[in-house]
Amino acid sequence: MKAGQKILIVDDVSANLVALEKVLSGLDVDIIKAANGNEALKAIINHDFALGILDVQMPEMDGYELADLIRGDEKNQNLPIIFLSAVHSDEFHIFKGYESGAVDFVTKPYDPFILLSKVKIFLRLDEQKKVLQENIEIEKSKNYLENILSSLEEGIIVTDLGFNITTVNKKILMLRGTDITEQAGKNPDEFFTVGLKEKWEEYLLSIENNNVKTSEFIFKTECELKRPEKDNMPVLLTVSGLNNRSGELLGTVWSVTDITERKKAELDLLASRERFSRAVMFAPFPIMIHNENSEIKLINEEWTNLSGYTNEDLPDLHSWLRQAYGRDEDFVLEDIKRIYRQEGKLDEGEYQIKTKNGELRTWYFSSTPLGPDENGVNTAISMALDITGLKEIEKELKLAKARAEEISRLKSNFLANMSHELRTPLMGILGYTEVLMSELESDEYVKMLKKIMFSGQRLSDTINSILDLTKVETDRITAEIKLADINFTVNPVIESFRGAMAEKRLDFQIVKHPGTLCSMTDENLLGQIIKHLLHNAAKYTHKGYVRLTTGREVIDDKKFVTISVADSGIGIPGDKIDLIWEEFRQVSEGISRNFEGCGLGLTIVKKLTNILGGTVTVESETGKGSVFTVLLPASDSAENGNAGDLTGINKEVVNSAEKNGLRKILYTEDDEINQEVINLFLRGKYEITVVKNSDETMSSLDKQNYDLLLVDINLGEGLSGVDLIKEIRKNKELQNIPAIAVTAYAAPGDKEAIIEAGFNAYIPKPFDRKTLLGNIRDLLDNRE
Ligand code: ADP
Repeated sequence: MKAGQKILIVDDVSANLVALEKVLSGLDVDIIKAANGNEALKAIINHDFALGILDVQMPEMDGYELADLIRGDEKNQNLPIIFLSAVHSDEFHIFKGYESGAVDFVTKPYDPFILLSKVKIFLRLDEQKKVLQENIEIEKSKNYLENILSSLEEGIIVTDLGFNITTVNKKILMLRGTDITEQAGKNPDEFFTVGLKEKWEEYLLSIENNNVKTSEFIFKTECELKRPEKDNMPVLLTVSGLNNRSGELLGTVWSVTDITERKKAELDLLASRERFSRAVMFAPFPIMIHNENSEIKLINEEWTNLSGYTNEDLPDLHSWLRQAYGRDEDFVLEDIKRIYRQEGKLDEGEYQIKTKNGELRTWYFSSTPLGPDENGVNTAISMALDITGLKEIEKELKLAKARAEEISRLKSNFLANMSHELRTPLMGILGYTEVLMSELESDEYVKMLKKIMFSGQRLSDTINSILDLTKVETDRITAEIKLADINFTVNPVIESFRGAMAEKRLDFQIVKHPGTLCSMTDENLLGQIIKHLLHNAAKYTHKGYVRLTTGREVIDDKKFVTISVADSGIGIPGDKIDLIWEEFRQVSEGISRNFEGCGLGLTIVKKLTNILGGTVTVESETGKGSVFTVLLPASDSAENGNAGDLTGINKEVVNSAEKNGLRKILYTEDDEINQEVINLFLRGKYEITVVKNSDETMSSLDKQNYDLLLVDINLGEGLSGVDLIKEIRKNKELQNIPAIAVTAYAAPGDKEAIIEAGFNAYIPKPFDRKTLLGNIRDLLDNRE
């Protein structure tokens, strides 16, 4: 009989129980005894029985009732029962016994041998039933397992203890691209790039030697799954021992996971890390990756090359900071700590580092946090540019700029002083010449005087040009913009050139647009522009014509008025056409220079045109002539031709008759030549008193009334002209007396300062008689 089988025997007579136990004692079974129904039921709960042998006649609960109750329990509904009965061995009772589930009925006194034989049969039956049930269970769980296996994402291989494949799931077949037939009975090592059989055998040996039935066999690795006619597949392989419920080792289970995607991603990551590292390593500027733990994760060649520190010199960030920044180490460290904490923000700044050979260099750093690394430590990348060279250039540039500004200031001072020194004697030269010309009768002398006059005038023009340029360059010119009709604006300039053109026998043509040409402009500045252009046209044309044309033009929907000066002169070679606008540049320069002039006219023209918001261009052909065209923005009135607002703009200067009662003028001048010249200019027209300095002026004013004051500014001794007029204006009676400053101070800003001091007009030296008389007349007329 199979060990572990149990038989329940129930009898209220203990002698019967002992007798029965004895009969059964030859069997290899456990016998559980019960003296009544209740005891029997308890035993039923605690044990699994292969057979029950019940006495029928028992007090309280007889055998049938007990059998009923036993069979009522699901676990025991098929438990074979043998009834033992002495009294009721009639048919009725036998029947009742069977009805209660008895499988046999033995009447006392029984033949022990027969009973024993029956019991044996039942035990065998029980055994067979158990085997059957086990088989059913196994079958069931086999199906269950197969279902589970086939639904798994992993490939599964099961082997027996001998390492032969017993089961595989669908997934592993799919991964290998094979069918089931190929796998059975094989050693799974054949499928992988690692071999485990040896390990398995060692394991088996070790558990055998240690006499342990169960222990863990777990083996986990990444390897490759071999696939017929295909590339190997990277897999994660987990092999573990397979135990049944009671812990008995049955074989191994292999779980195979496809990690192709993960491997690919890892490779991609590796490749991109590699690319990044290369880019950093060979970048043409210093780069370092460092972290909060002061570790230098990466430092590139340029960093070590430029700083001179080797990788050995820089085992960590602190060693860099200590060597490169010395005493500033902590200060820089604070800046770096801030970078780790910033989120994605850039930190930039200039730092001075000390190289290994002690040189100080300026590095411009850009640092960005990279976030925590795989260990959660905050990391940052710092890139640097060595800007030492740039800094030096910057320093030099600043110095050069300061020097240039100083030179420019010196130039302006020089020009202002020179103009004063040149204008004062020029006044004498031109003044006396003018006086002499009207006094002398000899044609020969007059011719000579004209030449003196011409040369002096030229010198005066040059000085004026230089001053004009200084004014433009120092932004001292402010345009007084008013609505003007260009057709009128050009008139005074045209008139002033008629004489010169006639003298050179040039055909001076004026072609004016028939309508009005309105522009918001400064007539004075525009007059200067045209004067320079006509001057050049006359100068560079030996025969033929000079033509001034006014007109309109529309360019890109914008309206312009145009003034062009064309000539049939020498023209300008194409390669020189750009340089003529630069200051002091001429087409013919150096010792081969053919024309007088200082090369400033066109520079001034260009700058003044810019101030007026216009443009100036030139078209020229050598030997044929040139056309200079000025474009100024037209104002609306230009379109409708309405010049109504312009009455008065171009009002001709009305010649006022000079007074015959001879007005009195007090002239303060320390230069004797100028005193005489002005005396001569005003002779017969005004009664003139000349004084030398401020004191004499004040005492003259005390003694007598004057109609007008003429005051030189640089008076040598006593108050200057500027302070003198301030003093004079303090006197109530003299507050409105017209006063004209005559001065060689014609530098930018002088005029404004002089007028502000209290003068009504300002005449720069040298000036001619007409200018002086015109100014005096204007002031005296205004007072009437
Ligand atoms: P300047 O006439 O005093 O030399 P500008 O600045 O007025 O200086 O002119 C610069 C140069 O342009 C002149 O030296 C001359 O060579 C050239 N130029 C100017 N106007 C004309 C013109 N109408 N015809 C030919 N050349 C001219």
